Amino acid sequence: MLVFQTQNALQIELKKAQNQSKKIGFVPTMGALHRGHLSLLEQSISENEITVLSIFVNPTQFNNAEDLKKYPRTLEKDIALVQELNKNILIYAPTVTDIYKGNTISRSFDYDGLEHQMEGKHRPGHFDGVGTIVKKLFEIVEPTHAYFGEKDFQQLQIVKKLVVKHKIPVNVIPCEIYREPSGLAMSSRNERLSDNARNESKLIYKILLEAKDKFMLKSAKEVTEFVVREFKKHKNFTLEYFEIAEEETLLSCKRKTKNKKYRGFIAVFIEDIRLIDNISLK
Ligand code: AMP
Repeated sequence: MLVFQTQNALQIELKKAQNQSKKIGFVPTMGALHRGHLSLLEQSISENEITVLSIFVNPTQFNNAEDLKKYPRTLEKDIALVQELNKNILIYAPTVTDIYKGNTISRSFDYDGLEHQMEGKHRPGHFDGVGTIVKKLFEIVEPTHAYFGEKDFQQLQIVKKLVVKHKIPVNVIPCEIYREPSGLAMSSRNERLSDNARNESKLIYKILLEAKDKFMLKSAKEVTEFVVREFKKHKNFTLEYFEIAEEETLLSCKRKTKNKKYRGFIAVFIEDIRLIDNISLK
């Protein structure tokens, strides 16, 4: 199992593969790995000759210092999990200095408006941080394919836009949301939930499924009102937003249009932990 702490060391290893035109799959993560991350790795392994996993808690995408401080860091456990899955995966686990060279700031990106919706509204600067780190990692790894979860659907669309606008030669591959048996979308943040909150959090997916059902007959406004009402009944939750938006532009759905694909997006707090999820309303 090879673990690299510097981009130089990783690039020396990758050069061999690149010289032989091997396909390189890349799975960027912030660690605290769970089955959702492993499903991305499995897809990359099945489609590429080399798979690179990065584990880096990127400071510039956190708009809340406390959230950054509390983000779980479990590198030893992560390495053991990956080793169990496949010993040939290359792990890149850099320091902040290796990535930012003493200048830990993000540059600003224009994603044609995708950045102003949902997460962008509620986490100012977040997608500048995401663009900064993803672009840097793409330049370091030079992958043929990069795997991103639909769990962070807005991020996925933003990365697709980044690649097009900056002409980065990589195929961005969307991966389905991996859920716990209860329906709760797997997330590193779930680790911070008490047993009780984790159990209650299955409500999020249950309400998303009901919203999907209702959207067949009702308007986006009516479905949104339904979701707001449901969360008001459950005092342990604070709903930050529920929005039905069109998949490509992420613009809020005012009136349903045939041939457009919509998704319901949600951000909700429980025990001060912020969880996000989404569902296709097709
Ligand atoms: P993170 O470590 O949370 O930044 O996530 C790293 C990658 O894994 C991102 O592309 C996420 O969208 C993806 N991911 C996280 N959780 C899940 C999940 N439950 N199912 C599928 N992909 C996920």
